Parts: sequence; C-alpha cells; structure tokens
Amino acid sequence: MFILILGAPGSGKGTQGRILAERLGLPKITTGDLIRTAMKEGTAPLGIEAKKYYDEGKLVPDSVVLGMIKDELDRPEAKTGAILDGFPRTAAQAALVDKTLAQRGQRLNHILLLDVTEDELVRRMRARSQVEGRPDDSPEAIATRLQIYQRDTAPLIAHYTQRGIVHRVPGGGTVEQIAEDIKRIIGR
Ligand code: AMP
Repeated sequence: MFILILGAPGSGKGTQGRILAERLGLPKITTGDLIRTAMKEGTAPLGIEAKKYYDEGKLVPDSVVLGMIKDELDRPEAKTGAILDGFPRTAAQAALVDKTLAQRGQRLNHILLLDVTEDELVRRMRARSQVEGRPDDSPEAIATRLQIYQRDTAPLIAHYTQRGIVHRVPGGGTVEQIAEDIKRIIGR
C-alpha cells in the first residue's frame, strides 16, 4: 500500500507519517530529511545544490530531486508499500511517482490531505523555529514556503481528486485525534 501525506508546510505531515508508518509497518520516505542529511554531509550534487534553495524556503529543482525520488521508490524495502512524506510536490514529481509505480503494477492507494488554516500553520512553524532552529523557519522563508505550496503543490490535489483517492483530514486537532481520523479513513 502506498500512501501520500499531503499538506502545507507545518501541517503535521512528518508527525502523522511517522505514526502511520509504525502502525502499518511500512517504510516512510521523507524527502525533506533526505535533503537535510545530504546538506549536512555535503554530498554532491544533492547536498550542495539543495542548500541555496532550501534555506530560502524554495523547492529544490526537479532536476536535482527526481533521481533521489526514483532511487528511494526502487529500494527493496519500498517494493510493496511506503508512506510518502514531502513528495511529490510538483507535477513532474507526481508524474515520476505515478510512472514508477505503474511500471510495477502498483499505484498510490490513498492521499491524506492534512487541512490546517494558514494562521495555525504560521503559528506552528514559528514555534518549531524556537525549538529546532531550522533556517527555513525564518519569517521570510515561511512566507515563501506557503506561497510555493499554493503554487506548485496544491494543484496536485485536483490531479489526484479525479482518481477518487483524496481524503481531506482536518489537521487542527491534537496529534491523537488526527491519527484516529486517519486510522478510520484507511480502515486499519
Ligand atoms: P519539508 O521538511 O518537507 O518541509 O521540506 C523542507 C525543504 O526541503 C523544502 O522547503 C524544500 O527546500 C526541500 N524539499 C523537501 N522535499 C522536496 C521535494 N519533494 N522537492 C523539492 N524540494 C523539497
């Protein structure tokens, strides 16, 4: 089973993805974490290329991340299912995911869209910046990330809604409430 957690930055994708992956015993693929690791280790080309976009809150270009996404989906652990956290985020990434799975006779089974108001997103990212000190949680980068989500990623919702696999999950409650909602939607 392949499940995509979709939502604006700060909507709780990472937290809910972790809970779901543990419950279903599936690997979680998190492009943000992979990019952060590559930057920390200075891996070429990903880590080095990513930095100039990441810190400003911009998406790392598809030319840099598509190869990474393909490699992750092709890993043996992800052969029968995975939780996708943080990708696809663009039309080109969605096309790659669709094609890679289709070639294996698979598809995305569920899209969980975490629905959180913009005020709440900003509040959470500011709170996180106090704790984690992520450079992309600065006020300027937060604004850029929200804009880019609306421009590049939100259109994917329409693409997947046509297939009838999008479930809107109210994302403003507690972590436990949201996890329960997701359990009910997935049916396990
Ligand atoms: P996240 O941790 O998912 O909020 O991602 C943090 C940052 O990593 C984003 O603002 C982008 O710079 C980069 N990033 C993560 N996932 C992707 C992706 N699928 N495509 C492009 N850039 C990404």
